[in-house]
Amino acid sequence: MFHVKHQDFDVVVVGGGHAGAEAAHAAWRMGARVCLITMRRRDLGVMSCNPAIGGLGKGHLVREIDAFDGIMGRLADASGIQFRLLNRKKGPAVQGPRTQADRNLYAAAAAAEFAAADGLRLLEAEVCDLIVRNGKCVGVVLADGSQVFSTSVVLTTGTFLRGLIHIGDETHEAGRMGDAPSVRLAERMDELDLELGRLKTGTPPRLDGRTIDWTNLESQEADEDPVQFSFLSGHVQNRQIACGITHTNVQTHEIIQKNLDRSAMYGGRISGTGPRYCPSIEDKIVRFAGKDSHQVFLEPEGLDDHTIYPNGISTSLPVDVQTDYVRSMVGLEQVKILQPGYAIEYDYVDPRALSHSLELRKLPGLYLAGQINGTTGYEEAAAQGLVAGLNAANANKEPIRFTRDASYIGVMIDDLVTQGVAEPYRMFTSRAEFRLVLRADNADQRLTPIGIGAGCVSEARRMVFADKMEQLEKTRSILDGLKFSSRELAGAGVKVNPDGPRRTGFEVLGLPMGTPAALCSISGEVSELDPQVVDQVAKDALYANYVARQDKDAEALQRDENVRIPHDFPFSSLEGLSNEVKEKLIRVAPETLAQAGRIEGMTPAALTLLLSHLRRQQ
Ligand code: FAD
Repeated sequence: MFHVKHQDFDVVVVGGGHAGAEAAHAAWRMGARVCLITMRRRDLGVMSCNPAIGGLGKGHLVREIDAFDGIMGRLADASGIQFRLLNRKKGPAVQGPRTQADRNLYAAAAAAEFAAADGLRLLEAEVCDLIVRNGKCVGVVLADGSQVFSTSVVLTTGTFLRGLIHIGDETHEAGRMGDAPSVRLAERMDELDLELGRLKTGTPPRLDGRTIDWTNLESQEADEDPVQFSFLSGHVQNRQIACGITHTNVQTHEIIQKNLDRSAMYGGRISGTGPRYCPSIEDKIVRFAGKDSHQVFLEPEGLDDHTIYPNGISTSLPVDVQTDYVRSMVGLEQVKILQPGYAIEYDYVDPRALSHSLELRKLPGLYLAGQINGTTGYEEAAAQGLVAGLNAANANKEPIRFTRDASYIGVMIDDLVTQGVAEPYRMFTSRAEFRLVLRADNADQRLTPIGIGAGCVSEARRMVFADKMEQLEKTRSILDGLKFSSRELAGAGVKVNPDGPRRTGFEVLGLPMGTPAALCSISGEVSELDPQVVDQVAKDALYANYVARQDKDAEALQRDENVRIPHDFPFSSLEGLSNEVKEKLIRVAPETLAQAGRIEGMTPAALTLLLSHLRRQQ
């Protein structure tokens, strides 16, 4: 039994997945007394599905977490075995760092982070109930009946709430393969009168790499100049590996097509909605019937691990069908399946019940983060963990707000609490209207000052950041002071009208072919500058004009964000609004006029009316 005193902790975090780990660490960095309670201590940092971190949009989230001194970027760098910068040929704004991660190294790095977090308590137990006093959540009850009290609780139970695994027509209760589900807590959530929904996700079979014939397979190598996640990381820590590539073919598709009714999803045994952007192989064959081949990446799960993750063929077909279709692919003719693919259905909470700090409006003191809010993906979960952890530690103070114009994290939180989810939510660069400003490369410049202000950034990072900013400013001012004639520039290959005006070094970096190398070829002073710092300034120069335009839009957004709506605003008695709009306003309870404007179906007329009522109240 866990010995309990009143008000043991400031923050209790339930669940040690990606959201929970980030939430607990963030609250601890804020100086809170934190207890992380999870079913199995060794599951800290477990990747339930693909062994990879980052990608388009997701890589931005990891960089932003790192800018707040969060752990995901450091863990990914410590375990990265194939760093690749996606969209390398496109502009920096849409490039996404990604790495394949060694599962064991990732978990080991997570364990080391927590071992080093002096005073952060880690407890192995199942949480079955919440303690509610005077309408506020003040702790949790464990399976053995003991109670743990705290000022705030962060729930991050992932796919575990009433989790149900499907493989063909076999079904069993589980949080994920090999883990018990969280049923008692789900029943308690029912009593809170929240809107719960059902979602599903799936994973492919894991293969034994020793039974794959790699000889005729294409391969995909790691980048020669790896780009890592953390702004603090130095050299790449691990040997870099290649992935194999195979393809589904006509025979594969025939096998799947013939057995569609045996798939849990197509046999009508799953009610939850799945991720449209991460379809199962059954989905791909039905939705893209005209295609007779799909690429499958064969990704090693670790440096000393024979397990291969075949990316692109998640499934809920029975094991015999999985074996048949997998073996129909080149290189996999003799392959042995180590663990079958499966689909999992689970409860999620409609995130419109949350405020921007991820606190439940109906039950102050209770914060929700991760897959429980209808998202999918480690990065999305970790980013929410950061927001919930910071705010849970900051309870009773002004919430730490993440806005759409400052971060992808802000975009995601606002999307979730304003629009809710109709399918598992994942991040894309296209979701961010200010994406030319919100680049992965400048996440620290945008957010580390906010983190320092909030008090969650270590002294070591603060110093590295201050040094970097000083260098950037110095370099920028040198470049601003250098002037080049158009003839000089044209001679160096920069695309300019030879009769045009003289340009500063900074302006040149924003011109077509105005690369740092071109500048170095005509200026000894530029050649002497630190190339890495010049590269960073060049990225800012590339977007300088767009950024100035976006700044104006961001200012307009900020004006509306500054019009706050009191939490007890009487939307129901607003005259002149349709009942449908009123219902939406009541459900979302927007915190600002800007957020109200983003609710689906809100018209300019409705907003004007709302604004005039708000003004009258002031
Ligand atoms: P999790 O990582 O699930 O962690 C939840 C933690 O809470 C666990 O450690 C659990 O032990 C603990 N816990 C639960 N209940 C309790 C309790 N009552 N008391 C104490 N501890 C508790 N993402 C993608 O991006 N792409 C995919 O293709 C994809 N496929 C997936 C397939 C499967 C089968 C699964 C299971 C997940 C998949 N995901 C995928 C999702 C990804 O794994 C999650 O989005 C991510 O792990 C969510 O993080 P989380 O912290 O919210 O929850």
